[in-house]
Amino acid sequence: MAVSDHVDLETFIKGVEKRNPGQNEFVQAVTEVAQDIFEFIADKEEYHEAQILRRIAEPDRVVSFRVCWEDDNHNVRVQRGWRVQNNNAIGPYKGGIRFHPSVTESVLKFLAFEQTFKNSLTGLPMGGGKGGANFNPRGKSDGEVMRFCQSFMTELYRHIGPDTDVPAGDIGVGAREIGYMFGQYKRITGRWEGVLTGKGMEYGGSQMRPEATGYGAVYFMQNMLKHKKDGIDGKTAVISGSGNVATHAAEQITKQGGKVLTLSDSGGFIHDPDGIDQDKIDWIKDLKTNRRGRISEYTDEFTGASYHEGERPWGVKCDLALPCATQNELNGDEARTLVDNGVIAVSEGANMPTTLEGVHIFHDAKIMYGPGKAANAGGVAVSGLEMSQNAERISWNHERLGTMLTELMEGIHDKCVKYGDQGDGYVDYVKGANIAGFKKVADAMLAYGVV
Ligand code: GLU
Repeated sequence: MAVSDHVDLETFIKGVEKRNPGQNEFVQAVTEVAQDIFEFIADKEEYHEAQILRRIAEPDRVVSFRVCWEDDNHNVRVQRGWRVQNNNAIGPYKGGIRFHPSVTESVLKFLAFEQTFKNSLTGLPMGGGKGGANFNPRGKSDGEVMRFCQSFMTELYRHIGPDTDVPAGDIGVGAREIGYMFGQYKRITGRWEGVLTGKGMEYGGSQMRPEATGYGAVYFMQNMLKHKKDGIDGKTAVISGSGNVATHAAEQITKQGGKVLTLSDSGGFIHDPDGIDQDKIDWIKDLKTNRRGRISEYTDEFTGASYHEGERPWGVKCDLALPCATQNELNGDEARTLVDNGVIAVSEGANMPTTLEGVHIFHDAKIMYGPGKAANAGGVAVSGLEMSQNAERISWNHERLGTMLTELMEGIHDKCVKYGDQGDGYVDYVKGANIAGFKKVADAMLAYGVV
């Protein structure tokens, strides 16, 4: 009998902690998945013997590199960049690049690990990866951002390729940064190829990609509610964040007849009891992507709204909650407040925004809870479709991609129900997403033998 038969969950987690000292976010993400997978593989000897989970929780490689650039005052600046290639069993590594001062190896390892399951859930052939740097684009000039992106790509280009690893955007990396990085890749290699997704429409980007993550998170919410014969129309929603994911989630909630009460940034949140309608959302999109201002400016523009400095929006009473900002932005106490205030469903536009304690509170209260790896998979799914269009040298129209996105989100929801239905009317979407995501990757790895 293989030794691994005797490794229980607790010993497994202790091993992960020991091998990844101080990497709390990574240990948190692995712990959340391992709980469900251990239960699923309890009677599946082949997965134990092949040490599949142990292998998925060890990135294929972590590349770390120096990014050197010159700021507008001619100071030489040195930053650290990474690309974590977690697993390519079912397709080329795929996942975003994050530029934010909070970026560490632990954060990128957790994101690449989660991405492996998320990408598998989409049903498209994509492995899991993530990259980034501890660079803060806020307050930097366009020229500084361009020089940073070019320097970052000057090292990254040798590790990526359309059949190897295809990065995209994430926090701090939007259309502007993707343009600078794609331009540099093309300049260095002399090749125009689909090496990045989230590109501009003029140079190989896909229709629906900007909307996909936020809309997808709302479609996931819609599917959870539909499963309970309910809908979004007439419901109030609290959303955190004010970037690409949050503003598109707000847009789709509004389209479906819901009322968005809040949005936020790292400085605080705005509460608008009249609802943040499409005109107001357009104003915020312009504020954040063009003027690059702070959400506090909203109250100067729109009367009736209040700004809450240094606070998060989870204390505002609502039917639906969509955390769309960043990891661990919703803790146990805040989850308890949401439940006490009568929240019925949570759909995560961000990656791992709820702490483990918060997740347990949602489950104990039996509210509908769609974890990021399922609920926000629409973004990477449309990235997968951008890869297909680039490979075919073709572009599909908005309507076709819109239909594909809604079908993909329905498919992801249904996979979660298949593996997460508890038989008593409650669906454990975390468990469903973990098992469905794991199974495809695990079976591919079994097919490859010990590699
Ligand atoms: N950064 C997004 C995510 O967390 C998108 C990744 C992609 O499109 O590759 O899934």
